[in-house]
Amino acid sequence: MDSILKTLTSFDTDIMFVILLALFFTLEQVLEKGLSFKKNSTHLFHSALLQTGYILLNIATASVFVFFFDWIVQYKIGLLNQIEIPYILKIFIGILILDFVGYWAHRLNHIWSLFWRLHRVHHSDTKMDSSTSFRAHPFDVFLDNATLIVAGIVFGLDINIIVLRWVIYMPLFVIHHTNYKFPVWVDAVFGKVFVTPNLHKIHHHQDQEFTDSNYGNIFIFWDKLFGTYKELPVQEIKYGLVEFEDSKKQTAWYLLVSPFLNIKRLDK
Ligand SMILES: [Zn+2]
Ligand SMILES: [Zn+2]
Repeated sequence: MDSILKTLTSFDTDIMFVILLALFFTLEQVLEKGLSFKKNSTHLFHSALLQTGYILLNIATASVFVFFFDWIVQYKIGLLNQIEIPYILKIFIGILILDFVGYWAHRLNHIWSLFWRLHRVHHSDTKMDSSTSFRAHPFDVFLDNATLIVAGIVFGLDINIIVLRWVIYMPLFVIHHTNYKFPVWVDAVFGKVFVTPNLHKIHHHQDQEFTDSNYGNIFIFWDKLFGTYKELPVQEIKYGLVEFEDSKKQTAWYLLVSPFLNIKRLDK
């Protein structure tokens, strides 16, 4: 068990992220012939620019992140450091806590207008494929990392739990955005517990009633518990945000400056 844990937590998640995107993007080209590489090269180009910015800023801030988690371990800060439980149990509880925190952090990104200015970059995409994953504003790195650091301090989580949860969640996150047509049985079987691609795609629907639903990261039960769970046939989804529909508003440059612009949220 120790060696499995050691292997999983030793992954370089930034490299894993690039490999996953390349793998799923290639699979999309092979399996979903409707969306050709040529037709989507502009979309891919702008998504790739934003993704690169996100990764570079993540690498640049990694030392601050590691510093905080060393500090938590050294001074035994946080709830789980106050109780004696087997380490494996601590990992399971830690992953569950991170998913709970992730649900609320995501929900706050939709509620607080300042956070929404950054988060709407991810929602602005009028197409949906694996390049939509991490098509986020680079400054989102600060929000994501600050959330994890606060969760670490409050609940006493160590860096292994953070990395392990990321190793589990990252492939799911990319799959959530792929343009494969997943059969409904995937939702019927896995959608009871996990966020399925179709459930996350509903979260990308233009209609605000649906944009503000299905906030879950790994597990869907938080949405069911806190009243934000929604279902909709995937063929009825219209991706993006009305205020970002113009192709000029789909460029990486516009999306980078968009948090500093007063853009009114429009519903259809
Ligand atoms: Zn969202
Ligand atoms: Zn998404």
